[in-house]
Amino acid sequence: MLIIKQPNELRSHIQSLKKLSKRIGFVPTMGALHSGHISLIKASKNICDVNVCSIFVNPTQFNNANDLSHYPRTLEADIKLLENEECDVLFLPEKNALYTNEKSLTIDFGALAESFEGTSRPGHFEGVARVLRIFFDLIQPDDVFLGMKDFQQCQIIRSLVEFYSYPILLHFEPTKREADGLAMSSRNVRLSEQQRNEAPAIYRALCSAKSMINTKPVPEIVALCIQEIENEAELQVDYFEIANALTLEPVNSVESGIQLVALAAVYAGEVRLIDNLLLK
Ligand code: AMP
Repeated sequence: MLIIKQPNELRSHIQSLKKLSKRIGFVPTMGALHSGHISLIKASKNICDVNVCSIFVNPTQFNNANDLSHYPRTLEADIKLLENEECDVLFLPEKNALYTNEKSLTIDFGALAESFEGTSRPGHFEGVARVLRIFFDLIQPDDVFLGMKDFQQCQIIRSLVEFYSYPILLHFEPTKREADGLAMSSRNVRLSEQQRNEAPAIYRALCSAKSMINTKPVPEIVALCIQEIENEAELQVDYFEIANALTLEPVNSVESGIQLVALAAVYAGEVRLIDNLLLK
């Protein structure tokens, strides 16, 4: 595996791959890799000639300095995992090198960025979009692999790709879970033993929402699910909502033909966990 730190070096490597008409797959990550990330690498290896993975804890997408400074960093283990998967290129940029000559962001995500993570983490999606534009311009991927665990982020990136007309095929991969249902996340290592034991209540509540969606009114389902999560001593719901899966507008009733998603963000002490489930 080639490890590249300098954007210019990556640019010239990409140029040589493009000359050979290689299909380039890209998996952006913030490291502390787990099986969820690895499933994206595998999906990329399945259909692309060359896979580029980035590890960059992007400061512009953190609105909370404490969250940024405590974000887990496990570079040595990450490199081993990527080597095992026969990832071709690992891009490990530094902030200053990456954000030089950045093009200004002209997209307005509108309502898509004004709910859920957009409300709870002001500026988060702008930071995600800024860094991805830099990555897309540099790597010129044919395919980009993203996890549905970050459901709203998938919609934001879909909108980014459409707005700037990137010739990129997006692939949204299913959420990898622990045996007890907890969505795999780099942040899970920060949970205390009790928080870790309680955290699967988030997925249980999402499953409850799915089982009730055709039989109970949406506001009642939401109230019951919040209750189910907050019955755990250390869990506090930031939001739990049922929304239109395409527009992410919260809904109060079920209409036929509209795909719904339940979205949750929950604090376990200081650690903020997100998860979601398609309901119908
Ligand atoms: P992150 O390193 O958290 O920024 O995530 C990098 C990519 O991995 C994003 O596209 C995430 O949606 C995806 N990802 C994170 N957790 C999971 C998971 N449990 N299952 C599948 N994909 C995931």
